Amino acid sequence: MIRFEQVSVTYDGLPHPSLRDVDLTIPEGELVLLAGPSGAGKSTLLGAVSGLVPHFTGGTLRGRVTVDGRDTRTHKPRELADVVGTVGQDPLSHFVTDTVEDELAYGMESLGLPPAVMRRRVEETLDLLGLAALRDRPLTALSGGQQQRVAIGSVLTPHPRVLVLDEPTSALDPAAAEEVLAVLLRLVHDLGTTVLLAEHRLERVLQYADRVALLPAPGAAPRLGTPAEVMAV
Ligand code: ADP
Ligand code: ADP
Repeated sequence: MIRFEQVSVTYDGLPHPSLRDVDLTIPEGELVLLAGPSGAGKSTLLGAVSGLVPHFTGGTLRGRVTVDGRDTRTHKPRELADVVGTVGQDPLSHFVTDTVEDELAYGMESLGLPPAVMRRRVEETLDLLGLAALRDRPLTALSGGQQQRVAIGSVLTPHPRVLVLDEPTSALDPAAAEEVLAVLLRLVHDLGTTVLLAEHRLERVLQYADRVALLPAPGAAPRLGTPAEVMAV
């Protein structure tokens, strides 16, 4: 479960907070679409979950964000790897190794898992994401949709409870976007992973969302509801 309690974020040099007094609870095991116009604070909200805000962005965060009870401000992003996985728009900037298999293993290396467990999780994830035939492929030789599936897989192998995705399909053509979204759906249903997904092309994801969290404007309170409830307002 992800919980925001009276969270405000103000970046250095900006006169107004980018998030203001946000109270929000994201239920366990759901796919929640984070919607709202550009500049409303979607990336800031996601960054507060993954710990990137304020550790890597600067600025101040007041209030408390917890993921499975862990405070994202008192833990560095690396210390949250087994709780929250984060994927952005550009998989190439996310990669730290050269091949599919190495990339899937990398995220587990700091967790102290037994090698047999790491190997098993790599195999499971290759199967789950339909990547088994590509295991030795250089990451640069993959299509955009395949790269994004590897990026998702690499944050999954530590078995995080929560997956945070910031516009993961924005660089993809519609067919590749569908491919990535199909993978996400399977995750929520098979692994019980909670997924928080920001996407400005609502039509791509609305049909898959259990709920929508709408940030209607910069500094405004988010509304959480079923897609029908939120979109009706
Ligand atoms: P969205 O994802 O909905 O487009 P953002 O969270 O990216 O919104 O941005 C919200 C506001 O915060 C904007 O005014 C943006 O310029 C500002 N902002 C976002 N990230 C940073 C940052 N790292 N440093 C300074 N200002 C930022
Ligand atoms: P899986 O979910 O892939 O089946 P588990 O999480 O059940 O793997 O872990 C399998 C084994 O790994 C268990 O015996 C457990 O004791 C060990 N293990 C899990 N996490 C750690 C850890 N952080 N450090 C050391 N050993 C661990």
